[in-house]
Amino acid sequence: MTTLVLGAPLSGWASSLDEVPDPVFGERMMGDGIAIEPIEGLVRAPAAATVIAVAPTLHSVTLRLEGGIELLIHVGLETVGLGGDGFTALVAAGERVDAGAPLLAFDLDSVARRAVSLVTPIIVTSEGATVRLLVRDRLIGFGEPLLEISVAGQIVTDTARADDETTRSIVVPLAHGLHARPAARLVAASRMHDATLTFEAHGRTAAGRSMVAIMALGVRHLDELTIRASGTSAAAAVEAIATLILGGMAEAEHSEPVVQAAVLVVAPQGTILGGVRAAPGLAIGSAVHFAAASIEVPADGAGPVQERTALELALATLTARLATASGVGAEIAEAHRAMLDDPALVDAAQSHVAQGRSAGRAWQLATAAVAETLQATGDARLIERIADLRDLEQQLLSELYPASATGALPALPENAVILADDLLPSQFMALDLRRVAGIVTVNGGPTSHTAILAAAAGVPMLVAVGAAVLDVPDGRTVILDADAARLDFDPDPAALASAVDRHARSRRRHAVDVETAQADCRMADGTRIEVFANLSSVEDARLAVTNGGEGCGLLRTEFLFLDRAEAPGEDEQCRAYGAIAAALGDRPLIVRTLDIGGDKPVAYLPFPHEDNPALGARGVRFSLARPDLLDVQLRAILRGVPGDQCRIMVPMVVEPAELLAVGAALDRAMLAVGRQDRPQLGVMIETPAAALLAPAIAAVADFLSVGSNDLTQYALACDRGNPATAGRIDALHPAVLRLIALAAEGATSHARWLGVCGGVASDPAAAAILIGLGVTELSVTPSAVPAIKAAVRRLHLTDCRDLAVRALACASAAEVRALVPAVIEEAA
Ligand code: PEP
Ligand code: MG
Repeated sequence: MTTLVLGAPLSGWASSLDEVPDPVFGERMMGDGIAIEPIEGLVRAPAAATVIAVAPTLHSVTLRLEGGIELLIHVGLETVGLGGDGFTALVAAGERVDAGAPLLAFDLDSVARRAVSLVTPIIVTSEGATVRLLVRDRLIGFGEPLLEISVAGQIVTDTARADDETTRSIVVPLAHGLHARPAARLVAASRMHDATLTFEAHGRTAAGRSMVAIMALGVRHLDELTIRASGTSAAAAVEAIATLILGGMAEAEHSEPVVQAAVLVVAPQGTILGGVRAAPGLAIGSAVHFAAASIEVPADGAGPVQERTALELALATLTARLATASGVGAEIAEAHRAMLDDPALVDAAQSHVAQGRSAGRAWQLATAAVAETLQATGDARLIERIADLRDLEQQLLSELYPASATGALPALPENAVILADDLLPSQFMALDLRRVAGIVTVNGGPTSHTAILAAAAGVPMLVAVGAAVLDVPDGRTVILDADAARLDFDPDPAALASAVDRHARSRRRHAVDVETAQADCRMADGTRIEVFANLSSVEDARLAVTNGGEGCGLLRTEFLFLDRAEAPGEDEQCRAYGAIAAALGDRPLIVRTLDIGGDKPVAYLPFPHEDNPALGARGVRFSLARPDLLDVQLRAILRGVPGDQCRIMVPMVVEPAELLAVGAALDRAMLAVGRQDRPQLGVMIETPAAALLAPAIAAVADFLSVGSNDLTQYALACDRGNPATAGRIDALHPAVLRLIALAAEGATSHARWLGVCGGVASDPAAAAILIGLGVTELSVTPSAVPAIKAAVRRLHLTDCRDLAVRALACASAAEVRALVPAVIEEAA
């Protein structure tokens, strides 16, 4: 037994950790200890020690004391957000220090003004240590006895700390680190376990239930992250969370379009202002300045009880209102709801209310502190989330003080080009989009939620244009060319005439594409090509039908299995598939069996750790290893999707035996639900093995559909989620095209049809080559249906075949792409 009496490392008011308004410390997630509200700006060594770490933002220091006892001294709360401003480190990691040696100096006044609180937790982080407070609720001076720390036996300092506590360090593979979406998913996943989870990186700690705190760790691509859990299912929780993160959290697919949006930056010249394209398109219209409504917020409250009630009511009302959002707005509202639920915001606001502030001011202070924390990470993606915080701040203030809002949006003329400092998602959603031609903002970023909303609504948007845009007179005719990343704020007649002409042409083309989208798709020579849509929800299905989708070529059923505590049951699945079938009318619906694993991990299903999950137990391998789940899914599909509409497709197949095994399961399911008519059972060609064995596979499959995303990743040995290989991953690479050609031959040899449902099907430049190779069905993203149909209609099969032959002879994707424009232009 080692027992140590520790002196105070700084002078101030000592109190129990129970008083600390931060769950990480208050709930002793990191360990037991005491808190001191300092009255001097100097932390000294409370005993002889080795410095283990000084936080990069200099606000905390960790020491190893006699007997291996580890101690964290964390100056203030949320002080990581100050980014080191006001702090000076007087020691470095690895140094030996004597008792009384100065460790950290800080500017008491400056930190007190900007931090949530100065209260300084002093935490014994060693496993097995018990702590007895020798003082509480009184002023103490440096070195006065503070804590008695006892440790039985040997201190354990490595990863397996106790029966009910587990840690694991991983390298984060996510291209954009732990930004808002993965942070929200980690919070959701953390809640599914009977364990208290914390995440540690860069010397900082975040509670597993705080999305903001996780974001504020500033974890970037390839950073080390330690996952720590205690509680009955600690080990399982750590493994599940590590697997989730290591699996990529389905990030690459989502982030692709927004990252690609940030391609152009133009410098100002003459009457031109440059910016960054956030949503594509061309707009000509009248400048309308938009200034956010200002809401009067009283500083002091009418009493903590009244203000707390008002805050809780406003939070509940706002949460309920956000739940009613639909379409793309629903995803963003969901992210806002996750933020509203975050203890980093709500607890901080409540503690300001407890100190006498009004609910509104408390909320402003809480959001400002989190915004500063995000700003301090220096990570552009996290900094863009500050707009979401400001949005939440405004929305909650509007709930609290509905009558005091002034400066509402002016009445919009036709073709308004909105000029604003920034535009929050809720402000965007309040606009009458029938009158909005475009949006230009002084600030903002191309990955903001407003940018995603604008792109989804087809509203061109330019961001980061600079303050000069605020000088453009109201009512001035402007040209916003988002594709060229420029705003002409005073166009001459020639520029205007040319823009009007271009605008008219592109609108005509789009209008024609949409108008003709409902007709079946035939090439110029009459060859029938089916244009289907890839779906993940009922909303997708509705959009697909509106846009002329002739059916669904890939229903990704993973949407039902992600972000929840347990697998959906048969009835729930049946209802979900049935709703999508109904939204499609009588159009065919190809339901893909569950394709989890690889880049789509599911926290509640126990995947063993795999060093290379893309080559592991994913897709059909997982389904065959879990026949219980497969049987439920097949029964649900058979019950939910009417006979003539229903087709089933199997992912990640390598050889015919896998399809035969699913076929046997399908026969079992048919017997169980009493269905006689066996739906077509098809296979995804997304492994090189499947392409090479296509004749044998086609012999037992009803149809083949190329999953070009995976086929390309496996053929080119390029991880589809790895930004380092992103520049190489192109499905028009001749090696991939040769595999597709083999698949086409295999399909033809057994009179089966071949489709493509990977991302390349949505690329108009690829349509001619794919058709030339023998593809007769393209399943594309719902919004791309009109343009793909229009592109296909301009093509002749003989030209496409010639093109395909030339493409197969190329030596690189670049050479293939160089062939394409000629054919497309000739056809146009
Ligand atoms: C593919 O791999 O191309 C495909 C369509 O499947 P997913 O993208 O869902 O893996
Ligand atoms: Mg795939």
